Amino acid sequence: MRFTARHPRLCTGGRRIPSVLVTAENHARRRALLRAALAHSEVDALLVTDLINIRYLTGFTGSNAALLVVTTDDETAQPTDPAAASDPNRTRFCTDGRYTTQSAAEVPDLPRLIARPCAGALVATAPGGIVGFEARSVTVADHLDLQSSAADNPRGVRLKQTLDLVEKIRAVKDAGEIDALARACAVADQALAELIEAHGIRPGRTERQVGLDLDQRMRQLGAEDPSFETIVAAGPNSAIPHHRPTAAILAAGDFVKLDFGATVDGYHSDMTRTLVLGEPADWQREIYELVASAQTAGRSACLVGATGGEIDAAARDLITAAGYGPEFSHGLGHGVGLQIHEAPGLAHQSASIMVPDMCVTVEPGVYLPGRGGVRIEDSGVIRVDGYQVLTQTSKELRVLA
Ligand code: ZN
Ligand code: ZN
Repeated sequence: MRFTARHPRLCTGGRRIPSVLVTAENHARRRALLRAALAHSEVDALLVTDLINIRYLTGFTGSNAALLVVTTDDETAQPTDPAAASDPNRTRFCTDGRYTTQSAAEVPDLPRLIARPCAGALVATAPGGIVGFEARSVTVADHLDLQSSAADNPRGVRLKQTLDLVEKIRAVKDAGEIDALARACAVADQALAELIEAHGIRPGRTERQVGLDLDQRMRQLGAEDPSFETIVAAGPNSAIPHHRPTAAILAAGDFVKLDFGATVDGYHSDMTRTLVLGEPADWQREIYELVASAQTAGRSACLVGATGGEIDAAARDLITAAGYGPEFSHGLGHGVGLQIHEAPGLAHQSASIMVPDMCVTVEPGVYLPGRGGVRIEDSGVIRVDGYQVLTQTSKELRVLA
């Protein structure tokens, strides 16, 4: 069965982007990858409770669910067999009664249990042995509940914490995911182009007005949501890396730093551009050119086999050599996908090794407190022949009258 993406085709700025849909086959393949990882993790089953991971593995988009992936179940048996939902040897999905209809449509290929609490129901009926749980998503209180569910299981279950088993698989994207991310990037590109075209970034407007305008344009172009709270930072505020838009009024001579993205089919784009209102001063040109050359160096270093730390250093070394090392106060980039920040990290001493089809941002910055700052950020894909940029907006210094 094919799940129809909500925006299967998107026409942006004359670029027609064909869609590659995420299908039930994708979810089944991801679960097979997870089972292979579980075979090396000494667990008989993994309880997945992180909702993003559940979406990734099943397609379910609701707000309450759990998934028990049984290491030895190859999923060849019929999911619709009524006995399957309580068969301890089967990989099973559980949600509550609010999602009976939605889960039937989104998760047709797994036995489904309707119960509450979901995680407890699955642990109480898990196969005997070791059941892994996701340490990052289980609170101390949740863990107490899971222990009492494990005690109710007649087959004898021991709980074991695991870390990032699904997240590591998510770091490498399949074609449907890269397609969704490309469409999310295209929405952001188009929204910014339209905002500039409409003279929406000009002296006299507030940061908040510009941010709302950009968000609204992204939604009109098909975004489900902005990827995160849009950053509009004018003048001295542009020196604050994660500034929240305020009533500050844009003025001639300001840098205007925009960091924003669109969510399309659950995938988050992330782009920063820094513009200048009126002719730039020498110091503005200087740090802009420096950050632009560091960003180019960072993209060039995004090679298969490189570590996140090596890529970070390629950009950072240029900024440090120019005397602005302390003014580049964050990592070079991060993975993007179903979450705005995910594996792999591109930061000082990051040991993550790049493999084809990882999606990462490259976003160096230089911030001069009280004066202004520049960040330039792309989202893109690690390919065998280098970094494929998905955010297409020009990185030339844009001077707005
Ligand atoms: Zn960003
Ligand atoms: Zn970012």
